[in-house]
Amino acid sequence: MNEKTMKAVVFNRYGGPEVLEYVDHPVPRLEAGEALVKVHAVALNGYDLMARSGRYKPNKGVFPHILGGDFGGEVIEVEPSSGCDIAPGTRVTSWWILPCGDCEQCMAGHHNRCARNYRYLGAHVPGAYAQYVKHPALQLLPLPDNVSYEEAAAFPNAFGTAWHMLVERARLRPGETVLVNSASAGVSMAAIQIAKLNGAYVYTTSSADWKLEKARELGADEVINYNDVDFQEEIMKRTGKRGVDVVVEHVGGDFLDKSIRSLTRGGRLVTVGGTASYECTIQVNYIFHKELQIIGSNSATLRDMEAMMPLLASGALKPVIDRVFPLDEAADAHRYLEEGKQSGKVILRIEH
Ligand SMILES: [Zn+2]
Repeated sequence: MNEKTMKAVVFNRYGGPEVLEYVDHPVPRLEAGEALVKVHAVALNGYDLMARSGRYKPNKGVFPHILGGDFGGEVIEVEPSSGCDIAPGTRVTSWWILPCGDCEQCMAGHHNRCARNYRYLGAHVPGAYAQYVKHPALQLLPLPDNVSYEEAAAFPNAFGTAWHMLVERARLRPGETVLVNSASAGVSMAAIQIAKLNGAYVYTTSSADWKLEKARELGADEVINYNDVDFQEEIMKRTGKRGVDVVVEHVGGDFLDKSIRSLTRGGRLVTVGGTASYECTIQVNYIFHKELQIIGSNSATLRDMEAMMPLLASGALKPVIDRVFPLDEAADAHRYLEEGKQSGKVILRIEH
């Protein structure tokens, strides 16, 4: 039987960017509940680099593997038993988590905490660095007309993660002050916009003035270059020794303790990662003395994604794209992301 093939970027062993190969690969076959999407753009995420290098092996070491959790594309086919009424031709992006759906956490609506089989697209199953990807049909999100495929790809992980942190976990309220660490990360650029939309006053930090200028354009009220000054001392100075109500943290390492010490009494730190390091030393006396909360956050729920779609349509939320590479230059895109010089999302464009 002739199998349909597509262009895809795969890897057959863990390693540097050079392990990524642009090849002909079988088009995914639909199973119950799934839809086939023609991919026009896919975003890189930090966890792509970790999966490629073998820092974690989520696909159980099955090769070849295809990365890519965030895509913009058009629906080609919907498996009939899916219960999904999205018509072929509809432009979509998606909620990228693949929960079991019936463990105690999923039953309680916390699919992002799935206790039995937490997986996500491009990590635990083949992703969208390809001309076609399959995904649960009910997790597709129709795109507003004003959102390009590149913007669609830049949206889910960055905005979903930031929304879940600030709205669902930190319960941000109007008038509160927020410190967003490391302004140029995709999740930070989303967090700045979401915090402003919720009526907060936003401080943000970065290592470069040009990145801070971009953060200002996104709505940050005050910016701090942490290469020039100690950001914790600077936050205390600028807030009259009060500190901020909420910190958005994903850097880890030394940043965590400094972030905790940037909080006001009763403040909340919400953490979603440790890009610099998972090993953090903290001073516990700040936590009990000031009654601080350290709050974990993981990815997003479908409800988070759906809540944002009208804001994406109105332009209130704007995905930020740093650079677009063609799919066959995925290895160069990985090198570029590893250099950390980007400000916004790095995208692969897929031709047909
Ligand atoms: Zn579950």
